[in-house]
Amino acid sequence: MRFHTPVLLKETIDFLNIEKGKKYIDATVGGGGHTEAILKAGGKVLGIDWDPEAIEAAKRHLRTACPDAFWKIVRGSFGYLSEIAERESFGKVNGILFDLGVSSHQLEVFERGFSFQADAPLDMRMDPGLAVTAADLLKVLSKKQLYALFIEFAQEKRAWAIADAIVRARKIKPIKTTKQLADLVVKVYGDRRKIRRIHPSTKVFLALRIAINSELENLKLALPRAVGLLKPEGRMIVISFHGSEDRIVKMFFKKEKKLKILTKKPIIPSEEELRINPRCRSAKLRVAEKI
Ligand code: SAH
Repeated sequence: MRFHTPVLLKETIDFLNIEKGKKYIDATVGGGGHTEAILKAGGKVLGIDWDPEAIEAAKRHLRTACPDAFWKIVRGSFGYLSEIAERESFGKVNGILFDLGVSSHQLEVFERGFSFQADAPLDMRMDPGLAVTAADLLKVLSKKQLYALFIEFAQEKRAWAIADAIVRARKIKPIKTTKQLADLVVKVYGDRRKIRRIHPSTKVFLALRIAINSELENLKLALPRAVGLLKPEGRMIVISFHGSEDRIVKMFFKKEKKLKILTKKPIIPSEEELRINPRCRSAKLRVAEKI
């Protein structure tokens, strides 16, 4: 099984404008798919991920796919991008890529608790060093806090009813597994689920994942750091997978005076890519160039 199929790969490589021997940072190395393509185009890569399983997979893959290229893969959160780059003496760079969110691997290893497709502990930490799991959040947040979380991070339409159902259910039995949560949401939606193409608990799972991994905070920390690391004419590419994330990128590109926006509208996957890799359906790619 492939660890992860890289999304918008050709578009990413085209926009990065890779020059031989120049430096690039892949801030979300995952299985190393994008990194491999950057290396094959002649770039040197510092790859970052905070998931040790991704680090191992990327190294294993690159050792055979690009044995002679210059790459270094390190563990850390891209929220500390500039600190990591400095530590690795990987100073001013020609391009930086963020391919946000979770990898297919993280979704598919059911013990990691990201997916409602199997019954597993409600974990959802991308970095197993994080302290709080999704089960912990469901235990400690008040009904109002749960409601705010589902609305703010995922615009869940039935946020209040779901928050209410969680608070009632946990009085009887703690909510510890993905199936318990998915079943509870399905119950709130009732029979209407039959006409829905997407599982009713998609947004609830998304909201919890965003919270557990401080996804929006890390992105807000990373974007200005990335600008600081780019050489003039260096490019940053951000591929986002949900609205809250994309809004942050869009607003940041707009207000940052040191950036010129190269994608007036975000680039989205072609129909052909969507057919081969349905997981990329919500991907949006934005590019800006350092002035
Ligand atoms: N482009 C990769 C796939 C990336 S999937 C490929 O082609 O294989 C997204 C990756 O980003 C995941 O492995 C996840 O662990 C990582 N990630 C998400 N947030 C992160 C953060 N704050 N710091 C470091 N890595 C992060």
